[in-house]
Amino acid sequence: MLEADQLLEEGGGGTVRHRARDILRSVFGYPEFRGEQEAIITHVAEGGDCLVLMPTGGGKSLCFQIPALLRPGVAVVVSPLIALMKDQVDALRQAGVKAAFLNSTLTGGEAAQVERGMREGTLDLVYIAPERLVTPRCLDLLEQCELSLFAIDEAHCVSQWGHDFRPEYLQLSVLHGSFPHVPRIALTATADGPTQKDIRDRLQLNDARVFAAGFDRPNIQYRVVPKAEARVQLLQFLEAEHPTSAGIVYCLSRRKVEEVANWLASKGRVALPYHAGLDPAVRQRNQDRFLKEEGVVMVATVAFGMGIDKPNVRFVAHLDAPKSLEAYYQETGRGGRDGLPADAWMTYGMPDVMALMGMLDASDLDEKQKWIERHKLNALLGYCESASCRRQVLLAYFGERDHPPCGNCDICLRPVSVWDGVVAAQKAISAVFRTGQRFGVGHLVDVLLGQATEKVVKFGHDRLKTFGVGKDLDKRSWQSVYRQLVAQGHLAVDMEGHGGLHLSESAPKVLRGEVPVAFRQETAEPKSARRRSLGAVASEGRPDGPGDEELWQALRSLRLEIAREQAVPPYVIFHDATLVDMVRRRPRDLEALSKIPGVGKSKLDRYGDVFLEAIKDHTPPE
Ligand code: ADP
Ligand code: ZN
Repeated sequence: MLEADQLLEEGGGGTVRHRARDILRSVFGYPEFRGEQEAIITHVAEGGDCLVLMPTGGGKSLCFQIPALLRPGVAVVVSPLIALMKDQVDALRQAGVKAAFLNSTLTGGEAAQVERGMREGTLDLVYIAPERLVTPRCLDLLEQCELSLFAIDEAHCVSQWGHDFRPEYLQLSVLHGSFPHVPRIALTATADGPTQKDIRDRLQLNDARVFAAGFDRPNIQYRVVPKAEARVQLLQFLEAEHPTSAGIVYCLSRRKVEEVANWLASKGRVALPYHAGLDPAVRQRNQDRFLKEEGVVMVATVAFGMGIDKPNVRFVAHLDAPKSLEAYYQETGRGGRDGLPADAWMTYGMPDVMALMGMLDASDLDEKQKWIERHKLNALLGYCESASCRRQVLLAYFGERDHPPCGNCDICLRPVSVWDGVVAAQKAISAVFRTGQRFGVGHLVDVLLGQATEKVVKFGHDRLKTFGVGKDLDKRSWQSVYRQLVAQGHLAVDMEGHGGLHLSESAPKVLRGEVPVAFRQETAEPKSARRRSLGAVASEGRPDGPGDEELWQALRSLRLEIAREQAVPPYVIFHDATLVDMVRRRPRDLEALSKIPGVGKSKLDRYGDVFLEAIKDHTPPE
């Protein structure tokens, strides 16, 4: 440790801590570290291994980028998605950092040039896809380079417990064996307990220090609404709260993606589809427009999003249930990376969960994997049916158990009332039992309500004792009762096929009245309390003094112009938050401009003058 320290001090004077701070200010233009960044950076810069658990938008990238600049040699960043690599490298180059990537989009000649840069030590950071990294050829290349560190991004991909398992990540264990003296930092924003353990075991990070920043994303508001007419519910949500902001709408199937995109477009939104079945050129174009224009709604399957770093996504809406809470947390985590308010909104109904169970059943996963996935679906159900703070449920799932109620989810904002459901539960369960434990919710509700449908009559269910015993509740309430009984584990969905329900172990206790059962009262979706109509910046973050609006628009179009010239997204030039600060503080010279967070030395040199010019044009003389 001491040796490394000395080396670093010889390299540039000052302690590691001081030099890290210098780089933060001069290269990235930020005045202070956030949370545990400083501790992590010093630990890695001094040669230590670590596992970093930090929410999306928490600032993970700097945790390896700054040590990469502090330590001699080239840093190798393992990153699963090609689109993300390009964005990160573009952003680093804007900040004046010598960065590159190695992936299949490069020509042979371009790759050879990057490899030369690595060998000769002229590059600080290189992003490499995992499958490429573990090839003998690439490992051989690494042997010839001076390596500063390995950063393993999206480290949950190494775990089958994680929601995004990638077999090629397993082979990353060779890094420790082949390069035992190169520090490794693994990072993730979504890992429940078993996933964290898997990461440590499989990447041989058992002695690594763990930095767990907590996963909370306080600026995201979580809401779940019972599904009625999903598209209409979505439209109302968008009209009331996000008439001009950019966001993502997730759907389960490609067909539905197309339908919803068309429907939103017919209602006047710029809405683009994204799914794996689209022509790659179209898909790419839609993604580009989402990144590079303002106010685009991306309607997508889960194929969309991993490589998306757009900081000002103001909402993430789910029209179909996600397949696990990790997936949900990661998908919704794409909202509000800039720290300004964002919404995570979902419509959900039992058929969604049935569909997911059906898909799981039809998949070719082995029994153990199916068991894991089923466990995850149950946790998801528990979230949707929760009668207490949604954030508490989410965070508890990721191992943070003592979070207070958040005040920023639908339940906290409008507490649901809970009713004693023992009798209703007994009726519902006995309907399942007496019909032979093989029918779905629709049929069971018909039986409870005493509706002599063709199917009811055909099976003789109109002669059962339970026929018509449920007239005290309406159809929607019974549907809700069944969802909650499944969520509470008293009933289980048949995996063989058609969503039939059967009793689970605890059901007899409910029938005998030995356990209490409470249900949440379904309410109609609350009319939204706030109206956030501003597109690019949530109203909370936006200055509104005299002339502010004009300047804000002027700075945005200047940014867009520069971004277009360089074919990069606008936020790679400056973030919204940085522009907002320029509007607020109206710097008059380079010195003052350099104090604005997000304006590092390289950007100051490149863009300082034009931005000052624009600010001057919109500011009255002193
Ligand atoms: P993550 O990878 O954890 O999702 P990023 O590394 O992309 O997050 O960082 C999220 C945003 O926060 C980025 O815009 C980044 O520039 C910004 N950021 C990171 N660290 C700081 C800091 N110390 N001060 C101000 N902004 C920061
Ligand atoms: Zn809450």
